[in-house]
Amino acid sequence: MKPRVLHVVSEVAPWAKTGGLADVAGALPSALRELGYDARLVVPGYPAVLEALQDPQVVGSDPNLFEGGRADLLAGTLGDVPAFVVDAPNHFKRAGLYVDEHGHEFEDNALRFAALGWAAAAVVNAFRIGEQRSVLHLHDWQSGLAAAYVRYGPRPNTPILTTIHNLAYQGRFDSAVLEQLGLPRQANSVYGIEYYGGVGYLKTGLYYADAMSTVSPTYALEIQTPEQGHGLDGLLRSRSNRLFGVLNGIDTNVWDPRTDPALPSGYDESTIDAGKGAVRAELAERFSISATTGPWFGVVSRLTWAKGIDVVLDSLDALPPDAKLLLLGTGDAALEERVRAVNDARVVAHLGYDEALAHQIIAASDFLLVPSREEPCGLTQLYAMRYGTVPIARAVGGLADTVIDGETGIAFAGHALPDAFRRALALRDSARWSAMRRSIMARDHSWTKSAQRYGEIYDDLAR
Ligand code: ADP
Repeated sequence: MKPRVLHVVSEVAPWAKTGGLADVAGALPSALRELGYDARLVVPGYPAVLEALQDPQVVGSDPNLFEGGRADLLAGTLGDVPAFVVDAPNHFKRAGLYVDEHGHEFEDNALRFAALGWAAAAVVNAFRIGEQRSVLHLHDWQSGLAAAYVRYGPRPNTPILTTIHNLAYQGRFDSAVLEQLGLPRQANSVYGIEYYGGVGYLKTGLYYADAMSTVSPTYALEIQTPEQGHGLDGLLRSRSNRLFGVLNGIDTNVWDPRTDPALPSGYDESTIDAGKGAVRAELAERFSISATTGPWFGVVSRLTWAKGIDVVLDSLDALPPDAKLLLLGTGDAALEERVRAVNDARVVAHLGYDEALAHQIIAASDFLLVPSREEPCGLTQLYAMRYGTVPIARAVGGLADTVIDGETGIAFAGHALPDAFRRALALRDSARWSAMRRSIMARDHSWTKSAQRYGEIYDDLAR
């Protein structure tokens, strides 16, 4: 029998999403189930998740969980995956997942995600997860406390895999929160949940884990260096033989140019130009620009320093006069302001979050720009390939593993984006252009390979 796998995660597409983490939680459990693993979810009861949960049954309860009032643990099904949902309205019945409408972190995030950890441990205990072949799979800081609750609970030997989707977000809180977490005193130690004088949720998830992983092989190496280790490189280095890099897949049903409902007409390897032409015409009309025959560049990204969008804005001079640059993004106020201030007829910027427009820009462009300074895996470069759009990416993290210069895209180092633009234009005029676009479209980015790799890690942990 293949082991049972309990995924503890704070986002799940399509119901609750701020980034790639949600895409993983929305796709990996189903891919594992197809391989025969009994994969299940433990997720917070945000309004959209509660609404989507089918056949909910109360399987646990706490009258005043972490001072947040009543909390029920519901069991049901999300999509085609069995799920446990923490129905704690005071903690999770809010519009945002982590921040309020002004972009400020919720003040009680430490307790909100302690509640998620509590729920995971409750499921482990109630369903005797630790007694059969099973693995607790934690994702990012929001699920980290589950590891402590399990290690100090009745089934402390439950195997734990903790996956880092982004090391920059660590869930570090003031030690004042300790009193409320209900953990024994000895947990507050460097050999436990203590982290630089406070409490570290990601550190907790990693410290108590039997194995750790991150979402690309290159990122797994980068985070073991002091420069990119965000303070956790020592811990990661000390157990580097238990740290794996498993590339994310993509949802090939949602991202399929043949059937994409966001496009005016579907296209495949043999109709790339017609398909791109149709969506360009639509975008040209929507944004009142001319649908020239020049090169189209796209950007779909959160606007943060790590995503390197400032490098694009600094390199506009290197674009030819007949180019178009379509940018979709939202994020830091200062970066949004810089984008708004761009005064260049070639640039169309849309500040906001818009799934359909993301699909359209990725489909319409010849090139998708991914100039990240740090990128654990990155998904948009994979979406681009599937749409016959050549990624131009900085060779870091998962981008270095997937954008192979001259083969699957154009890779550049440091600030060499202007040079990458020149190489891109030469490529577009060359005889290789058609063949390269066709070949990147045909690559397999489905979840099956990644799910098989996770399966090997589970098999090993649940021995
Ligand atoms: P991260 O998780 O760091 O944001 P990824 O590349 O792993 O980066 O995932 C980003 C996801 O969010 C992709 O699915 C991308 O299409 C989507 N996305 C980012 N910004 C926007 C936006 N403004 N509108 C629509 N989708 C967006």
